[in-house]
Formats: sequence, structure tokens, C-alpha cells
Amino acid sequence: MPNKSVLIIGGGIAGCSSAYALAKRGVKVTLIEQHDGIATEASGNPQAMLYPRLSGGDSASQFALACYLFSLDLLAKLQLQADDFHACGMLQLGFNDRELARLQKVLAWPEAAKHLRLLNQDEASQQAGMALLHPALYFPHAAWLNPQALCQSLIAHGNITVKTSVKITRLLKKDGVFEVYAGDSCLEKSPTVVLANANQAQNLGLGLQLKIHAVRGQLSFVGVSPLSASLRTIVCSDGYLSPASQGRHSLGASFSQDGSAALDELDQQANLSKLNSYAKGLYGSLKNNLQGGRVSFRCSSADYFPLLGELLDHPAVSAQPPRPNAHAASLPWSEGLYVNLAHGSRGFTSAPYCGEILAGLICRENLAIDPAMLSRLNPNRFLLRQLGLKKLARNLPSVAASGMHASLG
Ligand SMILES: Cc1cc2nc3c(=O)[nH]c(=O)nc-3n(C[C@H](O)[C@H](O)[C@H](O)COP(=O)(O)OP(=O)(O)OC[C@H]3O[C@@H](n4cnc5c(N)ncnc54)[C@H](O)[C@@H]3O)c2cc1C
Repeated sequence: MPNKSVLIIGGGIAGCSSAYALAKRGVKVTLIEQHDGIATEASGNPQAMLYPRLSGGDSASQFALACYLFSLDLLAKLQLQADDFHACGMLQLGFNDRELARLQKVLAWPEAAKHLRLLNQDEASQQAGMALLHPALYFPHAAWLNPQALCQSLIAHGNITVKTSVKITRLLKKDGVFEVYAGDSCLEKSPTVVLANANQAQNLGLGLQLKIHAVRGQLSFVGVSPLSASLRTIVCSDGYLSPASQGRHSLGASFSQDGSAALDELDQQANLSKLNSYAKGLYGSLKNNLQGGRVSFRCSSADYFPLLGELLDHPAVSAQPPRPNAHAASLPWSEGLYVNLAHGSRGFTSAPYCGEILAGLICRENLAIDPAMLSRLNPNRFLLRQLGLKKLARNLPSVAASGMHASLG
């Protein structure tokens, strides 16, 4: 689809993945980021773990597995430098009865069983390179990666122009085209816009009812010890510890509704004490090695699924709710306005897959995704559910039903 253009707001993993997937299809992309570089907010940690959180064959697990496999494939294609991507594997510990039951359910799901195996405590310890206290599910292809390197690699495509230090404050639609404002100045005009700016998508004057919220997370950095230097895999319980990179480990992460961006000593200790519950020797060797940390804010939806697709005109739908059996084509769409948002605590697994699906939606391709799954991701679902329109929320297409893309420029 050459000579078409899309503007994306937000230069984290969601924006960069969406840009890449569109650029590959010949679409000219302008990516706008408010900071002076990309991947500086939630996507700005020095290491991100790539693994799926599975519970069995439920829809959340199906989605997580599809995302994981897609990201692994993408990373194989991108060929990041050895310092930026380590397929070190991951051990998900069965650290209590509930977790053990979850691991058993995952093992019983044939789709997942191909990509992991159950290790007893000794085998898990051997795989990790040190003593662990629990059996574990082992994901041999799981990895950690450098988010900055991944995002840079995604936007290196010739069809992508990146504009940094530009904070978008408002979007206005006039004559089928979105005017994109920073303060009083209209900076760009584009018939197709993707909001990939996480929690701030709600602050663009569009009256969106997305049901997303910020979840504070604090990652601790821990200097490597003689013992921890031999850690070979990511170890994951209700927190995680990465193998060392550049002399330190990432130990994560806290979850809270607090809005403070300052590093919190209690969170540092809480991250360490999770480690104590599954690897006492490792804890002993690392507890005095804290080297600061990093706070950022996840963007989560009320049902933990991302938001992906084209938006309805939310104020218009609220003002005049449609009938439960209304045809999608009769609804007031905000045609050309898409979102790729709410990746919660797994954005490096989910955002690349969502970027690919989004590009397919924008280019009106036949998609290789189960329609039921697409409907779970529909960005209008919360608005419609809130209006009591559950069936419509389930059946609404992810794009306006007006045929081939009038709205691509
Ligand atoms: C402590 C912690 C640890 C985590 N660990 C992992 C992990 O190991 N593995 C994993 O997969 N995920 C992890 N996550 C989650 C992951 O970081 C997020 O899911 C992911 O980064 C979200 O990406 P995003 O692009 O949606 O949002 P962001 O990275 O926040 O990007 C949004 C971008 O939009 C820009 N922006 C916002 N408003 C505007 C505007 N008005 N104009 C212009 N630009 C704007 C912002 O500056 C920002 O760069 C972790 C999160 C936290 C907090």
C-alpha cells in the first residue's frame, strides 16, 4: 500500500511496533514522541523480560502465547546485537500450591506444552545455575532484551520519520482529517492517527472512555555478586530476577496505584524479599548490592487485555446510545482514529503482535487472528458495556464498516 500515510503518537514499544508493521507494508509513518528520545517511559527499563504469563487454555493465555511466539519470531528477524538480546530461558516457579496448580494446568494445554517443560527442583536449580527452592516451568526460548535497542531497530525503517520533543495536546477532526495540535499550533494533519501514548491517550480532548489506568512499577537494580554471576536464566515468581547485564541484575517489580515517580525504599526491600522466598542463597549474596532503581507507569485496562482497533466517537455514542441490535455501519465511528494501548506488565510480549494486527486492520487485510480474540481487544468494549450494550460490545468489528480505507491519506 505505497503512498499512504499514518501519524502515530507515542514512541514506546506500542508506537514503535505499530510504526514498523505499517512501514513494512509501504505506509509512510510519522511517529511523534514528547520526550527527546524514544522508549523513555514504561518502555525505558534497561532490560525487559520476554515471556508469557499462562494459566491454561483460556483466552488470556491464548492471547499471551500468540504474542510471545510473534515477538520471538520478530526478534529472530531483527537480529539485535548480542548485548541487547539474550534468549536465556525463563523458569516460572511453582512457589505455592496455587501456582503449582496453575503450572499443571498450563502443562495440560497442548498448545503451550510444545513451548515449555516442567522441571523438578533439582533440574530447575541446575538450569538456573544455582539453588532454587521450587519446581518450575521452563520456557527455553524466553529472553531478556534491551528495550531501547529494540525500539531503535523497529523505527530504523526508511518509511518512518520520528519527531521527538513534541507533546501533542489535542486532536480535532475537520473534513475527514485529524488536525494534531501542540498547544495552539496545528503541527500535523493526517487522515489516520494511532494513539500509542499509553495513559495519556485520555488527555487529548477526545472524551474517550477507555477504562485504562496507570499502575506504578518500581524495578530495582542489583550489583552482581560472585554467586549471582552464574545465574543463567530469568527466574520468575511473583517478581523476577534477570541474569546480569553490564554488572547488574534487574529485580522486579512492584505494583501500586501510587502516583509518585520517586524511588521508594520500601519497594526496593519488597523486591528483595520476593527473591528471599525462592532463592535464599542468592538473596543473601545480593541483599546489600542495591544500586538504585527505576520507577515508571504501566497502562492497564480493567480486564487486562490491551485496547486495539478503531474508535467510535465516544461522546456521540454516550450522548445517543445505539440500539442493542444496531448495525456497526450505522454507529458514529471516529473513522481513521486507532489505538494500540494498555499493555500492562507485558508490553514487550504483547505490543509487537498488536502492532502487526493493527497494521493489518488499517490496511484492511484479512487477518490471521481469531475474530473472538479481536473482539476481546476492541477498544470500544468498555464504553458499550457501560451503556448496557454487552452483545454489541462482543460483536462490534474492530474497524469502521465502511469498506476500503477512505481514511488513509
Ligand atoms: C517496573 C516495570 C517493569 C516492567 N517489566 C516488563 C518486562 O520485563 N517485560 C515486559 O514485557 N513488560 C514489562 N513492563 C511493562 C512494559 O514496560 C509496558 O507494557 C510497555 O512499556 C508499554 O509500552 P507503551 O508503548 O504502551 O507505553 P510507553 O512506553 O509508556 O510509551 C508511551 C509513549 O507515549 C509518549 N507520549 C505520551 N503522551 C504523549 C503526547 N501527548 N505526545 C507525544 N508523546 C506522548 C510517552 O512519552 C511515551 O514515550 C514493565 C513495566 C514496569 C513499570
